[in-house]
Amino acid sequence: MPVLTARSLEDLAFAIATAWGSAEEEARILASHLVEANLTGHDSHGVGMLPTYVRLYREGLLIPNQKLTPIADAGAVLVFEAGRGVGQKMAHEAVACGIERARALGAAVVALRNSSHIGRIGAYGEQAARAGLVFVAFVNVADHDPIVAPFGAARARLGTNPFCVAVPAGPGEEPAILLDMATSTIAFGKARVARNKGEAVPEGALLDRDGRPTTDPGPMVDRFEGALTAFGLHKGSGLAIACELLAAAIIGGQTIVAPMRHGIVNGMLAILIDPGRLAAPVHSRTQIEAVLAWIRSAPPAPGFDRVRVPGDPERVMRAQRLAQGIPLDERTLTEILEAGASLGLADAVLRARLGGVQ
Ligand code: NAD
Repeated sequence: MPVLTARSLEDLAFAIATAWGSAEEEARILASHLVEANLTGHDSHGVGMLPTYVRLYREGLLIPNQKLTPIADAGAVLVFEAGRGVGQKMAHEAVACGIERARALGAAVVALRNSSHIGRIGAYGEQAARAGLVFVAFVNVADHDPIVAPFGAARARLGTNPFCVAVPAGPGEEPAILLDMATSTIAFGKARVARNKGEAVPEGALLDRDGRPTTDPGPMVDRFEGALTAFGLHKGSGLAIACELLAAAIIGGQTIVAPMRHGIVNGMLAILIDPGRLAAPVHSRTQIEAVLAWIRSAPPAPGFDRVRVPGDPERVMRAQRLAQGIPLDERTLTEILEAGASLGLADAVLRARLGGVQ
């Protein structure tokens, strides 16, 4: 499998985004977001999304250089319309506004409507946590056929509606924990990555078109046939439904029942809290460290090497991939190069950006 440096993949993503017309800052934010997703092990939300984004751009469903429009401003409550703009930039800007408000007021609620795909939600958790703030986000996914079956259903009714919580360690630091997850048992992109590698998905993650369990991701990825399961039985299913209502239905966004244009639209309701308004930061930090140390100290169950907290696997993967490079399967790489070629970027030019595939 080709192994690429973060830098070369960022150059490749930047070239493709500028080819569809994104201004430099937008292309830079997008490229860095995608490569961070690869670095943290979330290939489903990394550069492998570029072919989809190129299709969305061609179909007018991803609008480069869109302005984030403030719809309402009630001090601690901000509502933004993203108008299918490049989601990574729209969400980054909306969260930056939330950070400013939460610092001034102690807390802020940010609603982001109708963005094109905003990618790895953990990126916004990290953004807020580095500013010293707690971050809780509910996100919905609309504009395409539902792909997640709620608990007890044989058919899909929801998107993979992610949920994220970041607890800051301190300003300028990486979060103490970063819980960042789809509310499906596996993210759709993980089924795509499995299909591209010719692998099966874990048992319990997927239903076939008759609602029976399957591990073959092909029909779901190629034809949206069947359904991913919601994680955690009725409880995870309930959280997925809460995401749909909070991130879209109550903020004037696009829900899963709205007319579809076969793009990807994310809505997000994010809550940012300055923990310094709740308790003395020194005390909180000591408590956070004590609780996490206690959890990590549990003896591992059979089959586990250690107990981890949310964000641990990504931290380890990031260090490893920065040192050793990012593996990218041939099929994904070919799809990206073809997407670039469709925008007029010559294969040789793109391959040169990759700086020699290892
Ligand atoms: P995942 O299952 O890999 O991880 C989910 C969470 O569990 C993470 O916080 C991780 O740190 C934690 N975790 C993983 N292994 C662990 C272990 N052994 N012990 C303790 N904690 C552990 O993630 P996912 O659900 O596949 O989601 C992947 C990405 O997809 C996320 O970044 C999410 O934001 C993104 N996503 C985006 C959209 C969208 O529409 N924008 C939709 C769905 C998912």
